[in-house]
Amino acid sequence: MTDSNAVVAPADADERRAAPPIVCYRVDQLAAYDQAFYDRLKQGMTIISEVIVDPRDASCFEVPAGCFFRIVSVEGSQVGDLNLWNKNDLSERFFSGKTRQLHASHVTRGDRLWSNFPSLRPMATITHDTLEWYGWDADGAGVHDVIGTRCDPYTNHRLNGVDYHHCCHSNLTRALAEHLGISLAEAEPHVHDVLNVFMCTGFTNDSKQYFMKASPVRPGDYIEFFAEIDLLGDLSACPGGNCGSSHSDDSTPCYPLKVVVYQPVVALPDDWQSPAPSGYGGGHGT
Ligand SMILES: [Zn+2]
Repeated sequence: MTDSNAVVAPADADERRAAPPIVCYRVDQLAAYDQAFYDRLKQGMTIISEVIVDPRDASCFEVPAGCFFRIVSVEGSQVGDLNLWNKNDLSERFFSGKTRQLHASHVTRGDRLWSNFPSLRPMATITHDTLEWYGWDADGAGVHDVIGTRCDPYTNHRLNGVDYHHCCHSNLTRALAEHLGISLAEAEPHVHDVLNVFMCTGFTNDSKQYFMKASPVRPGDYIEFFAEIDLLGDLSACPGGNCGSSHSDDSTPCYPLKVVVYQPVVALPDDWQSPAPSGYGGGHGT
């Protein structure tokens, strides 16, 4: 049967498709990543707090500006979903979409986690990533994506018709409510699209569908961040475990994650300060 809606390609279809791709954002215009700056600060830094995130649960943590934090794999291969806020103003939060546009679909050392409008400034800089060797695999997958959102009970219910209460969205909501002493209803709107820490994902070659595959993370691996501003973090140990089979259920082995916060003993330069919010004047053409 012919498809009456099928559209025939125009004669110059190949020519149109051959237009060269142009990288949208000139990130070389941003301040360069200064590895030596962070390496110097990391010499002899001391632990100021540690949090264990239980499997299929989430925990909050705070990181003062100028300190570092690591998300560490412990016990088994496990993926984490990370939310970040300005600790002093929860309306400023991690903006995964703009981070993706400025850097790439997956982030690693040297990339920054940007905040939403109107601030649009680096909240954190990735200063070490033990999985940076992974790069891009034959399926086009990489690690630490900013393309997925977070597993959530609404999508799960629509697809499977069941209530599951330990999706990352719910875990992040519960942990934030508990940390701030507010209700679930007050906490939920603050939960946002995540950095999928250790998660290995991509888009299928043929249909461009979002896929996941078993994470290469192993106990001892970590990703390290420098806090550019005072941060409130919230990390969920995804019910998908290493996300090599399923998520949004209890069928996959799941392991804890550890968050370690470090304070440099080396003093920050006198002229160091948190990045300023975007300088856009806010007129919007009016
Ligand atoms: Zn999840």
